[in-house]
Order: sequence, then C-alpha cells, then structure tokens
Amino acid sequence: MYEKTHAPPEEYIRVSHEKLREFVANIFMKLGVPEEDARITADVLVLADLRGVESHGVQRLKRYVDGIKNGVVKVKPNIKIVKESPVHALIDGDYGLGQVVGYKAMKIAIKKAKKNYFGIVGVKNSNHYGIAGYYALMAAEEGLIGISLTNSRPLVAHTGAINRVIGTNPIAFAAPTKTPPPFLLDMATSIVPSGKLEVYRRKGEKMPVGWAIGPDGELTDDPNVGLREGALLPLGGLGELFGGHKGYGLSVMVDILSGILTGANWGPFVGPTQGPKPSNVGHFFMAINVEAFMPLDEFKERMDQLIRTLKNAKRHPKFNRIWIHGEKGWLTMQTRLKIGVPIYKGTFEELKRIAKDVGVPFPF
Ligand code: NDP
Repeated sequence: MYEKTHAPPEEYIRVSHEKLREFVANIFMKLGVPEEDARITADVLVLADLRGVESHGVQRLKRYVDGIKNGVVKVKPNIKIVKESPVHALIDGDYGLGQVVGYKAMKIAIKKAKKNYFGIVGVKNSNHYGIAGYYALMAAEEGLIGISLTNSRPLVAHTGAINRVIGTNPIAFAAPTKTPPPFLLDMATSIVPSGKLEVYRRKGEKMPVGWAIGPDGELTDDPNVGLREGALLPLGGLGELFGGHKGYGLSVMVDILSGILTGANWGPFVGPTQGPKPSNVGHFFMAINVEAFMPLDEFKERMDQLIRTLKNAKRHPKFNRIWIHGEKGWLTMQTRLKIGVPIYKGTFEELKRIAKDVGVPFPF
C-alpha cells in the first residue's frame, strides 16, 4: 500500500475520509453555508488530504472559517454569468467560497464542451479554491481534457525582484486515459506552494534551502522567514541558472488568464482569504472535448501508449521508479480510502478548537 508522504503514527492521527468530510461540511453548514455548497467545499479539502496534498487539505480549514467570520467570504453568494457564448462564460463569484465558485464554473465549462466541443470559463470575485487539480479532474472524469488555473495572493519574488509581487499561481491539467488513473499535472508555479512552508512551520522544522529568500535576498531554511518577511521563489529558483525566469513566466501567464482577462485582482492586489478586504481571486477553466479531434477511445488508447513509453524508459540508477503525473496521488488515495487520512496532531488540535468555537460536535 503506497502513500506519497510519510505519516508516522506518533505524529499523525488516522481518521476515516467519510467522517472527516462530514465534519468539515458540518462546520461550513453551521456557519450558514447551504448544504450542497458545504459538501462541495468539504470534498475539495478532503480530496487534497486523500491524495497526499497535506498543504491544501484540512490544515487550511481555519483560514476559510476566518474568511467567513470576518465577512469577506460570503456564505450565500449570488454566483452569476455576466457574459456568455456557446463556448465561453465569464462568471462573477460574488465572493463565495472559491471551491463552490470553482466547482460551478467548471461544471459550466464541461457542459459547453460536451455540447460545443470547448468550454472556457473565466471567474472574478472569487476566493482561494484549494487544489487546482480538483477541477481539472472533474473534466477528465467526464472524458474531457481539463485545465484549471488560479491566481493567489502575492508570495513569490519574481526573477530579479526581492519582494513578493506574484502568486504561487498553480496550473492543473488532466487528461483521461484507458487505464486509471487519469493523467493529472497539478502544480504551483513556485518551487513549492506556501502550504508546504506552513507544514514545516507547524512541525517546527527547517525547510530545504532554495525554496525561499529572506528580506535580504539570501536563501533561507526558516519557513517563518519565507512566510512572513521573505518571499518564495518561482519554479527554477533564484536567478536564471536553473530556469527561474521560466517559472516566473508561467506564473504571469496564469495571472493574465485568471486575473487580467477576467477583471479579477492580479499580482500584488490579490488579497488573503481571511481579509480584511475581499480577496477577489480569479480563476480560469477549460474543458476540451477530444471528440473534436478524434474518437475518445482512440485518444485514451494513445494516452496509454504514451504512458507505457514513459514508464518503459531506461531507468536512472538513483531512481527506483518512473512515475506519471497524478499516479502518486491516486495510489495514495486508494490507500487512504482503506486505512484513513492521516491528520498531523497540531492540525487535529486545531480542528478540535474550530469545532468548539463554531459549536459542532468533534467526531473523532
Ligand atoms: P507537487 O510538487 O507535489 O506535484 C506536482 C505534480 O507533479 C503533481 O501532478 C504530481 O503528481 C506530480 N509528480 C510528483 N512527483 C512526480 C514524479 N516523480 N514524476 C512525475 N510526476 C510527479 O505539487 P505542488 O507542491 O507544486 O502543489 C501542491 C498543490 O498545491 C497542488 O494541488 C496545487 O494546485 C496547490 N496550489 C494551490 C494554490 C492556490 O492558490 N489555490 C497555489 C499553489 C498551489 P501526484 O499528485 O500524483 O504526486
């Protein structure tokens, strides 16, 4: 049974994914979120933990709760289409939970792609939507290619800059295959997302050198410095030697589609989920119907051939396996569906506090 991340039993408590999802949904419902929307939000958060993306799972619950309590995240938003054609839509998320807005926007993209081959949906006035991959996978599960992009609050110093101007702006791309799992590339355009620094901070550990710089521009191994006065680095790292300028470019590309094109905030103007002002995060979704190009079965067969070719490459002696994007997450999920989701003890205590504070029974 494979798991992407190591979760020693003295540091992690295993809980069933069903109970965890129910608990998270109950928290949101108690805060006034309608049941369907609460369940969508809980599903996105718990899928992150199931797939081994601890940085974007329930350890982030407090942030969304705080956003609602501070009045910057609306529990009953009036999500509406403001522009539309057979193949596109622009959506105003009305400052709802990013997961709810993102889910509804991708549903529209999927519907359009099924009918008219392509669905492109831009979103403004949203909030942090969690793992970008959730929405790309929604399309792949329907036999479509899915793309999901979002901007985020500024955390990254772009090549040549010392302060944070751009977000960790993730890219997710999913494609259906004949043999599960679907292909899923789901990544921050920074070396790591801020959530990974939060995991190190929570555990009181130093992080690898190269992920972030301090306010003096020097590399730091202190997650507190990286998260507070310093900055994360774009994919490829500091400077141009290892392609930092390419990660920088990818991040700006995501911001052009999610922020500039949609009318949402962009770059340094995107706010944090907790407020004090609405974050006005922007998203960008695409669903591509492969039948516009070839029959779906043929596409899936070709995907499997590609994956087999990648896997059958001559292996480097320092690696014991060649992985495909989405495979580690999928295998981790198969394991955790059976033996439970590991929750770090610090996060577990925080969930307990949230339950008490919101007035929901703690089921573990
Ligand atoms: P990772 O570096 O963990 O993984 C990036 C991708 O590489 C995944 O698709 C992963 O698949 C794949 N992968 C991992 N190892 C290999 C390998 N050896 N060979 C081939 N593929 C591999 O992701 P990040 O830390 O960059 O991002 C984590 C999450 O944070 C994402 O879900 C992202 O959407 C989210 N995020 C959200 C933001 C927001 O504002 N909403 C901002 C930034 C990030 P697998 O999943 O199977 O491991």
